[in-house]
Amino acid sequence: MTTVVLLGAPGAGKGTQAVLLRDRLGIPHIATGDLFRAAVRDGSALGVQARRYMERGQLVSDEITVKMLLDRLAEPDARDGAILDGFPRTRVQAEALDAALAAAGSQVDRALLVEVPERELVRRLAGRWICSMSGHVYNLAANPPQIPGTCDLDGSNLVQRADDKLETVQARLRQQLAALADVVDHYRDANVLAAIDGLQPIPDVTEALVAALAAARSAG
Ligand code: ADP
Ligand code: AMP
Repeated sequence: MTTVVLLGAPGAGKGTQAVLLRDRLGIPHIATGDLFRAAVRDGSALGVQARRYMERGQLVSDEITVKMLLDRLAEPDARDGAILDGFPRTRVQAEALDAALAAAGSQVDRALLVEVPERELVRRLAGRWICSMSGHVYNLAANPPQIPGTCDLDGSNLVQRADDKLETVQARLRQQLAALADVVDHYRDANVLAAIDGLQPIPDVTEALVAALAAARSAG
């Protein structure tokens, strides 16, 4: 079982890279943000609860988030592991993941931190457009669709996320950068952290992530 955790601030490029890594590693990409957005779309009880936090740019409570993630990890496609994107985002979540993996005789193999300065994060989130059907991620400057407003992969309309408006972005960064620092410390202490320069072009970031994973394998 291989569990890889992708860490980074909102807008660092986690979702973009997780899809590319999924294709390389052959394990599913699990993003708690995507799970919450699907719950909000479905209008489920979970979605109603999560929406209140997401609208304000706040983290959803650890209790709700951990339960949702562990339920997802228990599904058959994650038997051989997963790439976790956007989880854990607090120390409590990191400890809950460690405990669940330890109970299955496993552990987080690598925590990959995609580092991007705050000014660039704001710029990226302002230019982010996502596919309304499947969440494929584009950027007006760095990764534009071939036909404006249309997803290259399935032809759906592209939309901006409700929480990518400037004031919500600022609230998200305020709260989430401090929490991220705690999670980074947690994985540094566990000796599984690798930091990657997220300012590089998208394919170069992917190569750096793959190299960090290979280095961990040969060292372990
Ligand atoms: P996260 O999942 O960390 O919030 P995303 O993967 O959604 O971040 O990326 C945020 C925005 O930045 C998207 O518009 C994406 O296309 C763009 N982006 C991702 N990686 C890069 C990169 N290396 N250089 C420039 N823009 C990028
Ligand atoms: P993301 O798509 O990763 O940017 O997440 C969108 C929003 O979902 C975040 O701003 C939070 O409100 C919520 N969220 C996603 N993952 C988590 C998490 N691990 N813990 C708490 N809230 C989360």
